[in-house]
Amino acid sequence: MDPTVELLIRSAFFAVVFAALALWEIGAPRRALVAGRAPRWPHNLGILLVDVLAVRILVPTAAVGAALFAAGRGWGLLHLAGLRLSVAALLGFLVLDLVIYAQHVVFHKVPLLWRLHRMHHADLDFDVSTGGRFHPFEILISMLIKIATVIAFGIPVVAVLLFELALNATSLFNHANVAMPPALDRILRLLVVTPDMHRVHHSVLRRETDSNFGFNLPWWDRLFGTYRPQPELGHSGMTIGLPIFRDSRELRIDRLLTQPFRDDRAEAGAQDQKPADFQRPHTSKS
Ligand SMILES: [Zn+2]
Repeated sequence: MDPTVELLIRSAFFAVVFAALALWEIGAPRRALVAGRAPRWPHNLGILLVDVLAVRILVPTAAVGAALFAAGRGWGLLHLAGLRLSVAALLGFLVLDLVIYAQHVVFHKVPLLWRLHRMHHADLDFDVSTGGRFHPFEILISMLIKIATVIAFGIPVVAVLLFELALNATSLFNHANVAMPPALDRILRLLVVTPDMHRVHHSVLRRETDSNFGFNLPWWDRLFGTYRPQPELGHSGMTIGLPIFRDSRELRIDRLLTQPFRDDRAEAGAQDQKPADFQRPHTSKS
């Protein structure tokens, strides 16, 4: 497919999903926002644009290109196994999702990688725009891991394309500040990571931050013992973000880009002196 057409299709898909979730957030929000949209959205969307440009410029073939490359040479475990396309595509999708889950765990455990990933967690609110807020270095590393996985397993092009579109949509969905009936959340949670499930991961409490790593399928967390059904303080009472980077200036795109390279101990020290502007909105449980 022409790369420009592919970019247009992906962008249109993103815009439709984003707009639908934004309307849902406005109509039925789950929590009151602490910092609000105005100081965050231009910067969260700005960093997303930086990410898209960085990948286009530095890894233009991306994961789909890697799948075409592997298919042309018959490379990868799924090719060697001689599976039917539908089976190979299904397995390929599962492999990619498991790798993204494992990568997320590693980004929490390895201090250098956590420096990159914590920028995503430093958002003071949790809404659809948080779903696109990742440091460009994390996005580039993630793309290289995806490319290596696609080539090693020979994942079919169709599976890579569907996986990327699905991850795009679910990342926006599971960060959305949307309310839904508890029964619907319980049913959806069997198939996909829901906003209530992923919000636990954005808690300021480290034991909660280190849980619910899944982005797409909710099964890996249950399988590997990293699942936490609800936040201890409830969805309305919990505090979103990190103990560091709680100043409102840290929501700006220039600060987002430099957060990995700033001394977190100095920032934590500053936090001890209490810049209390962005503490949790209220303490009632939900
Ligand atoms: Zn995380």
